[in-house]
Parts: sequence; C-alpha cells; structure tokens
Amino acid sequence: MSAPYKPSRRREPDVDALVEGILAGERSALAQAITLVESRAARHRAYAGQLMQRILPKTGGALRVGLTGVPGAGKSTFIEALGMLLCNRGKKVAVLAVDPSSSRTGGSILGDKTRMEDLSRHENAFIRPSPSGVSLGGVAARTREALLLCEAAGYDVIIVETVGVGQSETAVRTMTDFFLLLQIAGAGDELQGIKKGVIELADAIVVNKADGDNRLRADLAKVEYTKVLHFLHPFTPGWKPKALSCSALESEGIEQVWALVEKFRDDLTASGVFEQRRSEQNVDWFRSLLQQNVMERFTEKNADRIHEIEAAVGQGTMPVSLALDALLDSR
Ligand code: GDP
Repeated sequence: MSAPYKPSRRREPDVDALVEGILAGERSALAQAITLVESRAARHRAYAGQLMQRILPKTGGALRVGLTGVPGAGKSTFIEALGMLLCNRGKKVAVLAVDPSSSRTGGSILGDKTRMEDLSRHENAFIRPSPSGVSLGGVAARTREALLLCEAAGYDVIIVETVGVGQSETAVRTMTDFFLLLQIAGAGDELQGIKKGVIELADAIVVNKADGDNRLRADLAKVEYTKVLHFLHPFTPGWKPKALSCSALESEGIEQVWALVEKFRDDLTASGVFEQRRSEQNVDWFRSLLQQNVMERFTEKNADRIHEIEAAVGQGTMPVSLALDALLDSR
C-alpha cells in the first residue's frame, strides 16, 4: 500500500501521485482528482488531460445507473437504501450528481440538505455533489470525467443522480447504462404533469413510497405505468422497460429494483448492446465537445470580424448566407 495521497503544498498538481492514489482506491486522491477535472483554470486543463489519459485503461468496469425524479420523489432516500444494500454486499458505490440549478442560482436542488447520512459514512461509499458554477454542458462533461475517475478507483456501481427538471435527464441518460425514473403516486390522474419525454428515456419506472396508506395507490400507479410503457418505443434496443414499486424509507422492494438492473446488464451484455452503446456514448460525447470547443475557439478568434458581419446582417446590407460564406472563407 502506498502512503495516502496528500495535496501538494506546491501549486501544481502531482499527477503521478494522483494516479497512484486513485488506482489504490484512496478516497482523498479521488476527491482531489475530481476537483482537478472540475477546475476551470486553464493551467489545470493540461494536468486534467494527462490524468484522464493515464487512468483511461482502468475505466469501464462499473455499472452506471442514472436516477431522476422530481424534488421530493425520494431520490436521496432511495440512493441511501440502494447504496447501503450494495455496500453491505461488498460492492463499492459512488454517487455523483448533475444539478444545473447550482450554476444558475448558486444554491442547488440536490445538494443542500443533509442527505444519505448512513451511506456517506460507509467505507465502501463515495458521494460527490454536483459541480457548481458552470452550464449544464459543463456540469455534464465534468461528471463524465468524475465517473471515469470513480471507475479507475474501483467503484462497482456509479449512481448519477439528477433533478427531474429541464434538460439534465438527457445529459445523464447519455452517460449511463441504465436510467431509472423515480415517481410517486399522485392524487389524481397518475400521468398528469409527467413529462412524456422523460418516461421515454427510462429503462425502469419505480413508484416510490409504497408504504402505509400509500401502498395501494403506489401499486395502482405501477399498473398504470406498466400500461404506458407497453405503448412506448423502448429507449434501449432489446429491453422492455418495466414498472416497479418500492418503499425507499422502509427499504422494501429495493432488492427487486437491483435485480432488474442486473438482469438488464446481463441481457444487454449478451446481446452486445451494452458495449455498443458505451462506445456510441463516447463518440457522441467527443462530438458534442468538439462542437462546443470549435465554436468557442472560432468565435474567440474571429470576434471582430463576426461583430462586423453581424452589424451588416442586422442592417440588412448583407444576406445571411453570404455573410456565413464571407466569415468561413475568410479564414
Ligand atoms: P428527493 O428530493 O427526491 O431527494 O427526496 P428525499 O429523499 O429527500 O425525500 C423527500 C421526502 O420523502 C422525505 O421526507 C423522505 O423521508 C420522504 N420519503 C422518501 N422515500 C420515502 C418512502 O419510501 N416512503 C415514505 N413514506 N416517505 C419517503
């Protein structure tokens, strides 16, 4: 065993020590490495790149599970219950979050309250709040890197949690293998107010809070969702999404949820879809970063010219199509 990684007093990150610490499964090194990849300081990007390059061969070993649901659906209670179940089975569980609200408001929907108290104390668990202060694209890119770092550190299951609002579900869907939508039974029509788009992304819908007086309603909601899922085009080729119910608070039905996730992994590994989708996800990630970076660099480099051409287009003295050619051909 190497000595635990200690943040260097020098300002420059020590990539060798970080890699060694991560591969030895040291939590402090992992946390430090995630901080490095989250850093927006230009001088850190090169170090972060080296770090990612070095750990890449050790990634890919975890089951990546995305989880979404509206605030109050019971996401943190569910993660606590599922996480404890897995940790007690000897699995290492990492929990990451994608919460773009933290970049807009400075506060976050997911991170503020004390969450997952037992899990956060478990030696097999690693919990990291959402990076803050960046756009959704930025949060998603950093969470992907954090996910790979957790894999290199030997985590078996990585849960990426997001809030059930806005575009963040799509971002989490594209970085995970299994996508779980946590729901609660509503007072009236079960499907009212639920965004169909999110249901379409799900590999499973789990109706939470199936306990006490609410048990019957939750089970009815499960039946409703089963019907709805029957008519939707499955997001994952070869997998029919399922509806289940559980009580995260009482840790009931959680094992069944996990059994479904494992069945998903086994079925899709056998059919080849599992690996194929991961590879597609990587290419898509590369393309979106390419688009974003090319755009950023181009506009930065050509700011004056763009400004001039925009003025001409605004005044109606230059057709838009010609403006575009003029800009792109002038390089
Ligand atoms: P989140 O905002 O989605 O993370 O939801 P929380 O996990 O913070 O849960 C919101 C509230 O619902 C809390 O008061 C929880 O105690 C409660 N809750 C969560 N899961 C259950 C459950 O299975 N049954 C019941 N009865 N309450 C639950």
